[in-house]
Amino acid sequence: MATNRLDKVLADLGIATRRELKQIIRSGRVSVDGSLVTVPETKVDPKQNKIELDGKPLNYNEYIYIMMYKPAGVISATDDRKQKTVLDLISPEYRRMNLFPVGRLDKDTTGLLILTNDGDFAHKVISPKYEIKKIYYAKVDGKPNLSDVEAFKNGLTLKDGLSCLPARLELLGDNECLVTVMEGKYHQVKRMLASRGTPVIELKRLSVGSLELDKDMKPGDYRELSKEDLCRVFSSKNQQ
Ligand code: URA
Repeated sequence: MATNRLDKVLADLGIATRRELKQIIRSGRVSVDGSLVTVPETKVDPKQNKIELDGKPLNYNEYIYIMMYKPAGVISATDDRKQKTVLDLISPEYRRMNLFPVGRLDKDTTGLLILTNDGDFAHKVISPKYEIKKIYYAKVDGKPNLSDVEAFKNGLTLKDGLSCLPARLELLGDNECLVTVMEGKYHQVKRMLASRGTPVIELKRLSVGSLELDKDMKPGDYRELSKEDLCRVFSSKNQQ
């Protein structure tokens, strides 16, 4: 049985700070399995014990997963002394849950970013080993053509010697395309397109696995992912 201090368990839920929670517990607002508990250090197992605050049961989910429509101008980091981060965009309740971005989108890249506190999940999404496809919409300077499509398919080797895994380039309009990659090296999509003489002007991530950015989301919006959404991340349905 995994037990932990009551104040820590409640803090992990993002209800309040640890200090505030000590007060809340001491003031008699918390019960465990129907009995009032006023000692913050009391050991509880959040999966086994029924914890109530002000008579309302708390649902303990060890991990949390969030879909964010990352806007341009914020960095994919947890904190930074100078620049605004994606964590600065979410509420204090979520911020207290030790969330971090799953992979990085550049400061000027927009679109689907997942935030979580589940390191194993993040590793699986990022690692090329699990072959999770990420689809990007790119507006470029120039006009990608069929030989670029072929080059992407065969796996590009960039000027600095970096070998890219085979990727998919889909031509949309004259200056627009979709790029599907399974790896996330530094500036990967930008470097791939630049290597073909069509540098990126605008980049937006549309999907991770089969999970698509919600159509009705606006830059800066976010929401929790459901179990079905999480399955979509690891499913390749509807993907070429
Ligand atoms: N590739 C890039 O070049 N930039 C991103 O932000 C994501 C993928």
